[in-house]
Amino acid sequence: MGEMIEIRWHGRGGQGVVTAARLLAEAAMEAGYFIQAFPDYGPERSGAPIRAFTRLSRSPISLHSQVQAPDLVIVLDETLLGDPTILEGLKPEGWLVVNSGLPPDRVRARARGYPGRLALLDATRIALEVLQRNLPNTPLLGALARVTGLFSLEDLTRYLHHHLAPKFGEAIVQANLEAVRRGFEEVRIDPGRIPAGEWALEASTAGMALPWFELPRGGLILDAGNAVAYATGGWRTFRPVVEMEKCTHCLYCWLYCPDDAVRVAGGRFVGFDELHCKGCGICAAVCPPKAITMVEEARVMAGA
Ligand code: SF4
Ligand code: SF4
Repeated sequence: MGEMIEIRWHGRGGQGVVTAARLLAEAAMEAGYFIQAFPDYGPERSGAPIRAFTRLSRSPISLHSQVQAPDLVIVLDETLLGDPTILEGLKPEGWLVVNSGLPPDRVRARARGYPGRLALLDATRIALEVLQRNLPNTPLLGALARVTGLFSLEDLTRYLHHHLAPKFGEAIVQANLEAVRRGFEEVRIDPGRIPAGEWALEASTAGMALPWFELPRGGLILDAGNAVAYATGGWRTFRPVVEMEKCTHCLYCWLYCPDDAVRVAGGRFVGFDELHCKGCGICAAVCPPKAITMVEEARVMAGA
């Protein structure tokens, strides 16, 4: 990699995307790098797609734009792989690092046939086992250290301990360091083939109603009642699954669902609106008889 390393992170709100970008930068600062780390928020809602950027350099960084030609693209949620902008600008000799338990050929197929360097880590599985939460960011930091050779595992855990210890108790810090260690050791590397010339992906405006320069100024949504037009079901990383025999039809889930994604008929719970359920898990948390379980979307899609 060159003098400057540019990294673009893709994930969803609640997965620790921005924290990962910042933690990596802070660790690199301890290793003597000049750093930048900043987010690019979309809608500030759990599950919404968001991006973050990290720049590391051995000399002062004068560039302050978003990362356009990354050396690494890190995808914290494999359901985002179908987004045509994920691979935009990725250098031919760069790395695509994906949180996935799938085989490389299935991930490449989802990433529009991406042929280049690929690193895979089932970071969600590690996070659930070690942290008991869907926070795939720290395992991916371990994978990143292994792929790039930026840090030894010992150096990375030392730097992270230094940054996490003032904010969290020792048990949480140690759990995160264990997640980093597992990420370092369990990452699967598939070298692929480096395509000659540019790994060209046409910039796509798919999904944008208007190009940016034609959008109205300001952040106002003028039309009321338009939430139904947003298919927030595509943001889901976990989905609610109900055991109907346990359901008492109390409708707490309907009452608390922020997206009106619980379907009711005749005063009884009948299921979820998959197009709009963004998988926040509130229904599972409030369900008195614990009839709802949150299941990883990727595993449902893979038929596991
Ligand atoms: S149905 Fe449950 S998981 Fe889906 S959006 Fe509503 S509260 Fe969240
Ligand atoms: S909160 Fe649980 S028990 Fe109540 S209606 Fe929903 S699924 Fe059924």
